[in-house]
Amino acid sequence: MDLELSETQALVQKTARDFATRVIAPQAAEIDEKEKFPREILRGLAELGLMAINVPTEHGGSGAGVVAAALALQEVARACASTAVMMSVANMVGETIAKFGTDAQKQRHLPKLAGGEYAMGSFALSEPDAGSDPGGMRTTARRDGNEWVLDGAKQWITGGTHAGVIIVWARTAGPETGAKGISCFLVEGGAKGLKVGRPEDKMGIRGSDTVPLELDGCRVPADALFGQENGGFKIAMMALDGGRIGISSQALGIARAALAESVTYAKERKAFGVPIAQHQGIAWKLADMHVQIEAAQLMCMRAAWLKEQGQPFSLQASMSKLYASEMAVRVCNEAVQIHGGYGYIREYAAERHLRDARVTMIYEGTSEIQRLVVARGVLG
Ligand SMILES: Cc1cc2nc3c(=O)[nH]c(=O)nc-3n(C[C@H](O)[C@H](O)[C@H](O)COP(=O)(O)OP(=O)(O)OC[C@H]3O[C@@H](n4cnc5c(N)ncnc54)[C@H](O)[C@@H]3O)c2cc1C
Repeated sequence: MDLELSETQALVQKTARDFATRVIAPQAAEIDEKEKFPREILRGLAELGLMAINVPTEHGGSGAGVVAAALALQEVARACASTAVMMSVANMVGETIAKFGTDAQKQRHLPKLAGGEYAMGSFALSEPDAGSDPGGMRTTARRDGNEWVLDGAKQWITGGTHAGVIIVWARTAGPETGAKGISCFLVEGGAKGLKVGRPEDKMGIRGSDTVPLELDGCRVPADALFGQENGGFKIAMMALDGGRIGISSQALGIARAALAESVTYAKERKAFGVPIAQHQGIAWKLADMHVQIEAAQLMCMRAAWLKEQGQPFSLQASMSKLYASEMAVRVCNEAVQIHGGYGYIREYAAERHLRDARVTMIYEGTSEIQRLVVARGVLG
């Protein structure tokens, strides 16, 4: 693995860092407090080519690759985790359409997703009773003439209120077929029969819209079928492998913000006549936080690099997501501790980072599910 960034990767990283520092970071506390969907920020990211980083240029993407996408996400997450998760999901949806879509599907959706005409692209796999085990989903799709008719409920859909396109998974064969009877469909925002529910009142990433979707006789044209009929589960698993690099990046960005703020605070805050950074108990916390972030960074870059090389990366993506998300929670928890009482109030960002970090252990496969994947790799 080459640890030097290419010119393109360094440029994407710098572009994301500048925008995140100048535009996103100053709004992050307000986005959290007011649960504000950051429409203008997402548009700004699209204008910079950051909503479809690993989508080929012929479809309006940046064609900058997986490593560049991970680096950009880290920069945005350092400023605002809510924005970062939506950027991560939109990038994942764009990549998935670029990889599995027909020419017509790519032409119809990718330029709008990449260019910001669509505020979001969403990924609707989970259901109220099927999260870790999506093979148990109940949403159905039946063919009716030139259309498919979708019925069911999806849960926890990031950006679902604002999405121009949603990849929706549904059963096209009986429940006894499990994961082998699932297909996916490209459903457009505002489609008849698609009802968007009330946004969830969440612990963290409060600016990221998370909604239930109801599909009530939702009719889509025959050519909205995405990939092969009954071949949808594989698409979901492949997309999630890549998405896990995105969530690792999100976790890394949050942890870096928590460390940077802890270092500043520890140098300023005095106790027993000296800055608390001079107390070894605090200095060691900062050292441990730094070491864990660097370890997570290497794992994330390795998974991204393997994916970019077209090599198997599923195991590395799971390991990276597992480690980075749990690391971020530990680091953010220490950040709160280093800030003492001030870590527990909204005036400082430490508590927001901890709330934001927590969900990275849950979505796109919980820590337990990542351990199952890693255990399969270890046991052979
Ligand atoms: C803020 C947010 C945004 C989300 N965005 C999206 C989105 O955009 N699209 C989407 O499709 N989904 C999304 N999700 C859903 C998310 O991926 C699921 O919540 C997650 O996969 C867990 O599923 P579940 O909530 O049904 O928990 P369950 O599957 O019910 O799991 C409950 C607990 O049991 C554990 N468990 C389950 N099976 C096993 C096992 N075999 N071994 C050991 N432990 C196990 C789990 O790890 C967990 O601790 C989002 C969730 C949240 C909270």
